[in-house]
Amino acid sequence: MATATIQHQTENPFEIAQQQFDIAADLLNLDEGLRRILRVPQRELTVNFPVRMDDGSIQVFTGYRVQHNITRGPAKGGIRYHPDVNIDEVRALAMWMTWKCALVNIPYGGAKGGVVVDPKTLSLNELERLTRRFASEISLLIGPEKDIPAPDVGTNAQVMAWIMDTVSMHRGYTVPAVVTGKPIDVFGSLGRADATGRGVSIVAREAAKHLGLDITQASVVVQGFGNVGGASANMLRQMGARVVAVSDVSGGYYHPHGLNIPAMLEYVQRNRTLEGYHEPGLERVTNRELLELPCDILVPAALENQITVANADRIRARIVVEGANGPTTPAADEILYDRGIFVVPDILANSGGVTVSYFEWVQGLQEFFWSEEEINERLERIMVRSFAQVLDLALQRKLQLRTAAYLVAVKRVADATTIRGIYP
Ligand code: NAD
Repeated sequence: MATATIQHQTENPFEIAQQQFDIAADLLNLDEGLRRILRVPQRELTVNFPVRMDDGSIQVFTGYRVQHNITRGPAKGGIRYHPDVNIDEVRALAMWMTWKCALVNIPYGGAKGGVVVDPKTLSLNELERLTRRFASEISLLIGPEKDIPAPDVGTNAQVMAWIMDTVSMHRGYTVPAVVTGKPIDVFGSLGRADATGRGVSIVAREAAKHLGLDITQASVVVQGFGNVGGASANMLRQMGARVVAVSDVSGGYYHPHGLNIPAMLEYVQRNRTLEGYHEPGLERVTNRELLELPCDILVPAALENQITVANADRIRARIVVEGANGPTTPAADEILYDRGIFVVPDILANSGGVTVSYFEWVQGLQEFFWSEEEINERLERIMVRSFAQVLDLALQRKLQLRTAAYLVAVKRVADATTIRGIYP
């Protein structure tokens, strides 16, 4: 297999991101100095900030904003609210954003942010106060020309609206382009809410086509039923595939003849999770069992480190499309590759989100808005082109798709760094 040997097995996302980078750097014969620059984040901000809770008490929360690289443009990346957020996770997610933006060739660097909190334990007012204070704390870094956040796990369009409003209050005028993933009523973009899932379904369709699999005959399993998982399941269903299992924090839901995805989406809108959802013929499975169900297309769309050495040899999908960031560890990657499972890597598979975020940012800067057809057409073109480019390189050089995607992305960032030169 044409990749460097993995040094050691780790589930630290930043070590994993660095290992993935090293594989590409070796194959590119990357200059030692460039390697030192690109292996680490450029800027990291840690903030501990107070929030007044509804009962009058003061809680202190910890948050981060990390900019991995800004050579190709302003930093871009989501904000995560989750109890397990930590600096190494944010570093990894920021680095993956750099490669993702370079891969689809949009003029951004990579960033990510996060707050250590379980948003489900907060009231709406507490969530707003936490968001506005966090936005103030990281306002040192963010801005339409500097660093543009977006939603990620545990955040949504409403949270983005509060961030935009907070920055706008500081400046004294409305600043639409400071975040993306905003509600349509306040400078959001048509098509953004479903963009990541749409992108996932487009590359799944392209992968199926490459393998001679008819998407209308394909069975699909999706882990995670949030922004990415929900839309991915729905779009694949609209393409004619049969979604046989989905899951969220409450566990997995399986129906061999296909689940009623629109009903499930509606249920989650009302109840926040799938807990208590029922339809005739439904079977419950654990999240672990769900990943090991036989299917044509498996879409992990929850969190990191879901496919590891512990279960990689039991995955029974033909195609894995990584809706989530970092769902597969490098050691598991090798096992899947050796078993002939076709993995569409995160930086390609879920790049539809940042691509339409880019469209939203452009529209916000110009205050001129596009139609949904125009957005979806442009997204389709970029996803199909990026998939074809990565697949061609992978076939040419007999590489995993992930390695091929990294070669394209890392080379773009390395070339831009070389051309710009090192200051001073
Ligand atoms: P979200 O908060 O909307 O949804 C997350 C979903 O995962 C929820 O359904 C949650 O219940 C479920 N979940 C959490 N832990 C789980 C577990 N252990 N097992 C099964 N399900 C679990 O988040 P999202 O925005 O959909 O993000 C999901 C993944 O996609 C993350 O890796 C994120 O970084 C990535 N991603 C998101 C976007 C975006 O536009 N939102 C873009 C690119 C990548």
